[in-house]
Amino acid sequence: MAQVPNLKKIVLASRNPGKLADFSILLASLQIELASVADFTDEEVAETGGTFIENALLKARHASGVSGLPALADDSGLVVDALGGAPGIYSARYAGDGVDDSDNNQKLLAEMAGFDGDRRAAHFHCSLVLLMSADDPAPLIGEGRWGGMIAHQASGVAGFGYDPLFVPVGETRAVAEFSAVEKNRRSHRGLAWQRLRPLLNG
Ligand code: IMP
Repeated sequence: MAQVPNLKKIVLASRNPGKLADFSILLASLQIELASVADFTDEEVAETGGTFIENALLKARHASGVSGLPALADDSGLVVDALGGAPGIYSARYAGDGVDDSDNNQKLLAEMAGFDGDRRAAHFHCSLVLLMSADDPAPLIGEGRWGGMIAHQASGVAGFGYDPLFVPVGETRAVAEFSAVEKNRRSHRGLAWQRLRPLLNG
């Protein structure tokens, strides 16, 4: 895809190296330089929204404010119907503050014990927001959803988060067994980007 006018460098409102890697692949063809909010501040933004989209807007506004750059933010997570939508917006800290992906995956497996078949249905959701400035009143928004099932045990070592436990619809492999390129082509984040990307050209 051709370059986007007036968009040479943007800041990604995330410190997650997995997300930075995913977005570097998604933006590669646009010749947009990608910085991380971690290059500008150590301050964490309070994710006080009740939905993915509210939290994505909070993160984008903060990243644009501290960097003076246009900001791209995603808020994403795993939604499990049988758990009433959990871990949802709390996906990163499901097992508590300061936990890692493996703690979250163990908690998810424990919570899902006793659920079989369709009751293991889940989806990843991604809300993606681009703000041209911290005060931009008209954010560009793309959202994506990736349906699948929660496996009974972890497999694979690629990706991050719940990838070892999430088996997309029509697949037998967990996402942690996908290449990064394959994941981005099909994922909630890839889909949200495909929906946002055409809006960049006005
Ligand atoms: P966020 O950084 O606040 O958006 O939190 C996202 C959290 O949701 C991550 O820390 C993961 O736990 C989970 N998550 C989001 N996207 C993915 C994905 O592509 N694979 C696995 N886990 C994900």
